[in-house]
Amino acid sequence: MGGVSSPLDELPLRDDLRGMSPYGAPQESVPIALNVNENTHPVPEDVADDILDGIAVALQEVNRYPDREFVALREAFADYLGQGLRRENLWAANGSNEVLQQVLQAFGGPGRTVFGFGPTYSMYPLLARGVGSDWIAGERAHDFTLTPESAARQVADADPDVVFLCAPNNPTGTPMPLEVIEAVYDACRGVVVVDEAYQEFAPHDQPSAVTLLHERPRLAVSRTMSKAFAFAGARVGYLAASPAFTDALRLVRLPYHLSALTQAAALGALRHADTMLAMVDDIVAQRDRMGATLSALGYEPYESWSNFILFGGVDDPQRTWRALLERGVLVRDVGLAGTLRVTAGTEEETTAFLEQLASIDSHS
Ligand SMILES: *Cc1c(COP(=O)(O)O)cnc(C)c1O
Repeated sequence: MGGVSSPLDELPLRDDLRGMSPYGAPQESVPIALNVNENTHPVPEDVADDILDGIAVALQEVNRYPDREFVALREAFADYLGQGLRRENLWAANGSNEVLQQVLQAFGGPGRTVFGFGPTYSMYPLLARGVGSDWIAGERAHDFTLTPESAARQVADADPDVVFLCAPNNPTGTPMPLEVIEAVYDACRGVVVVDEAYQEFAPHDQPSAVTLLHERPRLAVSRTMSKAFAFAGARVGYLAASPAFTDALRLVRLPYHLSALTQAAALGALRHADTMLAMVDDIVAQRDRMGATLSALGYEPYESWSNFILFGGVDDPQRTWRALLERGVLVRDVGLAGTLRVTAGTEEETTAFLEQLASIDSHS
């Protein structure tokens, strides 16, 4: 077998997986990578040292399985979110993608349906398919916004088992008012998961969907350390919901799914939440500068409450994408006509992107 690859269709693959392609943001090695909404600021050195100390301690007992219920980590996330949440309300896994997968394993599955308002996070349909559920795409207005009335009507019509609400939405950056979330919850019988991967980049006076959890047992809010905490490589995501909801996830998780090293690293980062989040304001400032300059250059940036901007007015997105790549800047073509998506980087990276873009004529 070694090295000889056989075509996929010769394997007894599940019928419903035939013809699918894996999640694939191109992984190119470039000086300025602004394509997958990472936090491009590295973890500060003193924080990294403290995280390493915690990992070193965990390593001394790595011959044993880790705490299966990751009690200390759940408590730390409850403290971080506030709102009177307790350990029982919290869940965590290896990235919020795994959290979402576990939600689907518990509440989706074969013959069930998963709903989201497109365009939205491209992993949702893939995760749904992975558990044998059908994906139903709802619609947004032309500017990608949603009203409570339209959202509730579409969800009531579809009658899904699981709803994913990306707030703010990826890949458009669009804010989602809490009224939309409340209306969707009231309009369905399924579970409603608000994906707040980018919540820390929203205006500080805007309440999180965590404030809606009280007396809504079918509602869950997922978060990640990948973006605001600059921790994408550590793979840590989490979720807040009713104790019954998190209990359900224990039925489908693998035993000891969160390694002792991951738990130690996440606890270390949470001890320094203030320092880790200090970079968020810088990134928001770069995002807003990027939006203003894109407008000045004649592009049409959409409102964004995240760490990236989708901008329209691009004549030929593939051509502009390639021209930027040739100039050492990697952005994302998310497949929306006439647009590209770019992550806010450090001040230098953002400036480089804007200067290179200005040197390319790509207006429609
Ligand atoms: C980046 C992102 C995530 C985070 O995924 P992780 O698995 O935690 O790295 C989740 N949801 C959305 C919409 C994202 O853009």
